[in-house]
Amino acid sequence: MIKMMTGLVNYSSEPGSVEIRELPVPTIGEEDVLVQVGAVGVCGSDLHQFHGTHSWNVNYPVVLGHEFGGTIVQTGARVAGFQDGDRVVSETAAVIDLNSPFARSGQYNLDPSRKGFGYGVDGAMTQFVRVPARLLHHIPNSLPFEEAALAEPCCVAYHAACINVRIRPGDSVAVIGPGPIGLLCALMAVLSGADPLVVIGTPADEKRLQQAREIGAMHTLGADGRSPAEVVRGIGDGYGVDVVIDAAGVSASLKLALELVRPKGQIAKVGWGPQPCDFSLDALVQKEIMLAGSFSHNYPMWEKVVWMLSSGQIDLGPVLGMISPLVDWKSAFDSMQSGDVVKAVLIP
Ligand SMILES: [Zn+2]
Repeated sequence: MIKMMTGLVNYSSEPGSVEIRELPVPTIGEEDVLVQVGAVGVCGSDLHQFHGTHSWNVNYPVVLGHEFGGTIVQTGARVAGFQDGDRVVSETAAVIDLNSPFARSGQYNLDPSRKGFGYGVDGAMTQFVRVPARLLHHIPNSLPFEEAALAEPCCVAYHAACINVRIRPGDSVAVIGPGPIGLLCALMAVLSGADPLVVIGTPADEKRLQQAREIGAMHTLGADGRSPAEVVRGIGDGYGVDVVIDAAGVSASLKLALELVRPKGQIAKVGWGPQPCDFSLDALVQKEIMLAGSFSHNYPMWEKVVWMLSSGQIDLGPVLGMISPLVDWKSAFDSMQSGDVVKAVLIP
């Protein structure tokens, strides 16, 4: 077993504080496995930590990366159901209080003491990562690691679009924010029978909106000057869409969501940002809107997503735009930041 590895480390809150470093291979506990990382996705949160624009506590120095799949190379003595050589993906709730009511009820994504890979504990932008076995899911040999690594954002989208709101076939759906999570929410909406689907971005999002059209969006709004409200008035009876999924990285987009949703409709808010809002929530009351926050994911959606990736129901073609070696992390980060690439995956 080799003793040293190279990892992409975020070492301070100063913008740009990310570099490749030599690190010891982690040692594991009795209930952990050591995963040799096959592929790791770049998340918007990795970009935020790189640019120092994040709004969560980071345990510096920390190896980035929480979207990954790989092969078990070492198995703790008390691990059952997994062994050396197994191909796996991992959930992200690396540290939780197993006795909290949320953990005990399977909603460990909501445990306030939860700490994830890539900010709370060392993540997967490296060759080896220590993973508590309770986070693992098997993947079949037919599923490449580059795709398996994106199970995590798919689970975020499944949670928002398929669990925290209910989409029925024929429901009109608007997605605000065509970033990776927004596009994966659009994909989950299509798989749930959403029709028509509207995806709303900004003039800078033209490439991402092209991917939205590939996923099945009937209308994409950003560069052409059409107002979302005007387009939504042209859909169905004109009173608004059944469901809005707000995946923009700001709080204030909720204003647009409230404008677009029809009375008695549903909004899932999965995108977030620390800036306060300055608008009235009267529409929420008057239209009797069901507004659902959606955070992270837990066991049931992982099982669904691993199956859907394996069976080909989830086609990552429109989303997975770049596969690079870990040493080329900077160009992968920059391509995602500029919107040229929706989602990049690194191979350590
Ligand atoms: Zn992520």
